[in-house]
Amino acid sequence: MSKWESVIGLEIHAQLSTKSKIFSASSTLYGKDPNKQASYVDLGMPGTLPVLNKSVIKKAIQFGLAINAKIANKSIFARKNYFYPDLPKNYQISQLDSPIVEGGYIEIKDSNNQNKKINITRAHLEEDAGKSIHSNENNCTYIDLNRAGTPLLEIVSEPEIANSKEAVSYMKKIHNLVTYLDICDGNMQEGSFRCDANVSVRKIGDKNLGTRTELKNINSFKFVEKAINYEIQRQIDLLEDGKNIIQETRLYDENKDSTKSMRSKEEANDYRYFPDPDLLPIEIEEKYIMEIKNSLPELPEIKFEYYKSNYNFSEDQINIILSDIYITNFIDQAISLSKIEPKRVVNYFMSLIYSKLNKEKLKLHKSELKVEIFCLLLELIENKKITKNNFKNIIDSIWNKKNGVNEIIKSYTTDSEEDNDSVDGLIHKVISQNTKQVEEYKSGKTKIVGFFVGRVLKDAKGADPTSIKNKIIKILESV
Ligand code: ADP
Ligand code: MG
Repeated sequence: MSKWESVIGLEIHAQLSTKSKIFSASSTLYGKDPNKQASYVDLGMPGTLPVLNKSVIKKAIQFGLAINAKIANKSIFARKNYFYPDLPKNYQISQLDSPIVEGGYIEIKDSNNQNKKINITRAHLEEDAGKSIHSNENNCTYIDLNRAGTPLLEIVSEPEIANSKEAVSYMKKIHNLVTYLDICDGNMQEGSFRCDANVSVRKIGDKNLGTRTELKNINSFKFVEKAINYEIQRQIDLLEDGKNIIQETRLYDENKDSTKSMRSKEEANDYRYFPDPDLLPIEIEEKYIMEIKNSLPELPEIKFEYYKSNYNFSEDQINIILSDIYITNFIDQAISLSKIEPKRVVNYFMSLIYSKLNKEKLKLHKSELKVEIFCLLLELIENKKITKNNFKNIIDSIWNKKNGVNEIIKSYTTDSEEDNDSVDGLIHKVISQNTKQVEEYKSGKTKIVGFFVGRVLKDAKGADPTSIKNKIIKILESV
């Protein structure tokens, strides 16, 4: 048994998904040509003034409420002064005293699978810096300021994380939450979600924390785990040799699976923080906080239990459903619309849709696939009108926007007598056979829905016209 224990605190940077930057109107889109999205404000030109993007306030409050934190009624921006080539103003606008979010917690499972609360110290708003791109080939460093001024929410945990596994669970929980709330796109390759891991070790039983090192800017769950493990062992080895730990910032090198010193660590007072005179304090009314609270989606923890106990979804399935609010809404709607039992709906979704999203790195909300169409296709599968392979081809065609959805489906369905068996089959048939009228509906002639109802009723005598009408409208609205 080791006589050492590790202590970890994470600082997570989540890029808030806004169209424009936190203090200027330039776009936050990723991947544009260097310096094409940096305005005078982002460049720190004399005489320019920052103007706060209101939507970052809302997103920070959403996060705060979701972790049971206190939202500040008055929050202020401060200048964090330091010189770095990718920071043209020579200070970063951040928050020190009165951050927008204080306290709160995230619950994870510890190594004994018991629930453990990780307290959150604070979450504050700040602007990102630009990027230095070092070129060995040309022996120079390029500066790209497109990222300068991108809004970040920095989420700081208490030093309460016991090991690398807990650190990863904590980070995943936060990742899940910010993407679920739709306040951050969570894209780790593009750096929209990254963390600094603070690591120290101490003798088991010691009350005081050991000296920490900070592992900077890690943007994958796997590397967080590896970097922390390496760092814990490095510190234990030093201490066992009777040496001291130097408080410093270190970089993790994924190729060598080791960390190396980057710079000695500044203390807060080295940054000469002071309130930014260009920005007024933000005053947040209780009424506004309540409005946001009332519009928050049901939180993942609650939904998790609901899916598990009511529908018997597997934990893997639930994690996928809750990883993206668009998937969550899609599944919820599909469950309520479809006559097929929820577990089967989700099984179909995983094998037929999610596998495609995952394999081809696609986002559900970027596709033309509407939930009504998904349900219609499930019914066609269950009634053996199309095969699973057909289903996949139909989905591919919808994704590639080949033809209208109805034409696509029509071209795959067997137009047999059996279509008349169910009213749904009839509705589908009538819609797919009258594309001209569908176009008319789409162009605003909504009265034409009566035409479809009439056609369906001709072959489905005794069926309920209102329900038929509603179903037809749903499909027409979704194509
Ligand atoms: P900064 O790194 O910006 O100076 P803080 O001093 O507030 O900011 O600490 C940042 C993070 O370091 C927090 O998540 C905190 O929990 C963690 N931390 C502080 N001291 C230790 C320590 N001795 N061991 C491990 N983590 C620590
Ligand atoms: Mg730090």
